[in-house]
Amino acid sequence: MDSSKQQFLQRIGMITAGASLVPLAQAGMTLAPQRKGGSREHLYAMLIDLRRCIGCQSCTVSCAIENHAPHDALRTHVSQYQVVLTEAHSVTNVLLPRFCDQPPCVPVCPVQVTFQREDGIVVVDNTRCGGCAYCVQVCPYDARFINHETQTADKCTFCVHRLEAGLLPACVESCVGGARIIGDLRDPNSKISRMLAQHHSDIKVLMPEQGTAPHVFYLGLDGAFVTPLLGRAQPALHQEV
Ligand code: SF4
Ligand code: SF4
Ligand code: SF4
Repeated sequence: MDSSKQQFLQRIGMITAGASLVPLAQAGMTLAPQRKGGSREHLYAMLIDLRRCIGCQSCTVSCAIENHAPHDALRTHVSQYQVVLTEAHSVTNVLLPRFCDQPPCVPVCPVQVTFQREDGIVVVDNTRCGGCAYCVQVCPYDARFINHETQTADKCTFCVHRLEAGLLPACVESCVGGARIIGDLRDPNSKISRMLAQHHSDIKVLMPEQGTAPHVFYLGLDGAFVTPLLGRAQPALHQEV
């Protein structure tokens, strides 16, 4: 996380009480606004099986087309890193899709137009978003951006408009490797529930220390990438580090 974002997080995570600064949690304030919309019967999550990802960027392209991405930002892309292993003197390519997660972004919205649905999906009401970018700043995953064409916050929504029509998200449908699996955590027989149970000890999430309880899980993710290489490698589709 860059220092400006860290400073921002520190500022919004504190309230003043007299001369001292008190964390919100200690002050007994909730950081989880009420969920609204969607159905409690479902709890959506995505599993990215990196063992099956070939780095083709089909997901990147299909997402951009489906969700009318602006020319300078994407809701998802697959970063490729060339890693030199000093001990083995070998080279490994790690393919790291990015995604949206659970919501430190929600409570900071001054007009509550980004919110979490009952099914766990975090969305933005773009008809009322003022584009202040508080939510962009607070996201530890850099999963949000201000869409310069709409001047509002933009992020992955698990293609909720497609889910509600009984369709798979665009990136899942176009994934040639079958590496992206979306499903319902409340259904023990869904493919994602079964895979999470089967591979329990190998499942990772990004930046678990942030306490965001992400609902995007990774299988086959090298431990070195659990905390993305922020500050150590620039985001790129191909980057030597
Ligand atoms: S950019 Fe929009 S969604 Fe994000 S905090 Fe500001 S008003 Fe809320
Ligand atoms: S679920 Fe939809 S919005 Fe999210 S990355 Fe996939 S295609 Fe894009
Ligand atoms: S479409 Fe699937 S296989 Fe291709 S880069 Fe995306 S996640 Fe990997």
